[in-house]
Amino acid sequence: MSTLTERLATLIAHTGPLSVAQFMAHALYDPTHGYYPRQTAIGADFITAPEVSQMFGEILGAWCAHEWAAMGSPAEWALIELGPGSGTLMADIMRVLRAHPACVGLSVHLVEASPALRRRQHEQLASSKIAVTHHDRLEDVPIGPAIILGNEFLDCLPIRQFVRAENGWRERLVGVRDGALAFGLAPDALPGDTLIPEHLRNAPEGSVVEIAPGLEGVVVTIADRLRAAPGRALLIDYGPLDSEAGDTLQAVRAHQRLSPLMDPGGADLTAHVDFGALKRHALHAGLAVFGPIPQSRFLLGLGLAERERRLAATNPDRAEMLARQRDRLVGEGQMGSLFKALCLTTPALSPPAGFSQT
Ligand code: SAH
Repeated sequence: MSTLTERLATLIAHTGPLSVAQFMAHALYDPTHGYYPRQTAIGADFITAPEVSQMFGEILGAWCAHEWAAMGSPAEWALIELGPGSGTLMADIMRVLRAHPACVGLSVHLVEASPALRRRQHEQLASSKIAVTHHDRLEDVPIGPAIILGNEFLDCLPIRQFVRAENGWRERLVGVRDGALAFGLAPDALPGDTLIPEHLRNAPEGSVVEIAPGLEGVVVTIADRLRAAPGRALLIDYGPLDSEAGDTLQAVRAHQRLSPLMDPGGADLTAHVDFGALKRHALHAGLAVFGPIPQSRFLLGLGLAERERRLAATNPDRAEMLARQRDRLVGEGQMGSLFKALCLTTPALSPPAGFSQT
């Protein structure tokens, strides 16, 4: 048994079963044994779009420059990234912005939970010669005109799971059976079903519905900022276009899936992002919302294919590799359709690039 498994088993013995969200929070963020505090880079367990190709960050860099102008070219502004991982995305963006007028009054703020990843991000960004400040929480970043980016950030938010039973919705819990962590169901049904999205309340018996309790807080924090000063938040993650029933809790270690309870702290744990809930929270908080749209539409609409052609023309020996990278980012059945992009915006601003209806 790993140390964290033992500690969770002891905790459960003393206080009773944990919600899936509590289990995820321990497994991902325990300061000593949690998955993220132990990471020194992204890529050993799973691969993300900025790690697939420099083209992802370059397209986003051009998008940031365009949206800075759309915000009225503020003399001072912030680029804020939520969960920057290895710092690759921000490094690629900075390469594009370096020669752009937007760079003059720019400050970069990274919201990162893991001390080891913070060090890695500093190293990655050392050559960009731009002031970089780390923060524990988005709330701590000074208010002002800003573009907020989050790629594969929301999928780490802990989720609660509810299972449709004969007598209502029962929460899925993590307990101990035969000396190992095991899933079970709360003995009683929820007193009401207001937690469950309206269109899923009559889902058939056995259906699983997931709720990320922290999602609304993230959206409200973004909304407070975007109402106080002009800005946009671009969130890219994987999940369906609207809330759906289904168990999407997933553990990945060394590019292999395993049972989510098998190795807390040693495997990455994620769940699909509920873009429907995200959109509802944002509209409720008074923001303008664009998307979600498939990542393929977003990146191709912003010129990914042209970018690939230009890179291939100057580096013919890399043409095949670039084509493979493009396919991973925008191919059907690859990141292109599973991943979605969504933009939250200060209501008075024009629509952001890449989200037109056509
Ligand atoms: N955006 C990167 C990394 C994605 S992995 C990429 O696309 O490659 C998720 C990142 O979010 C990691 O850097 C992780 O340490 C960070 N993270 C997860 N939960 C967080 C939280 N609650 N607060 C701050 N950072 C968090």
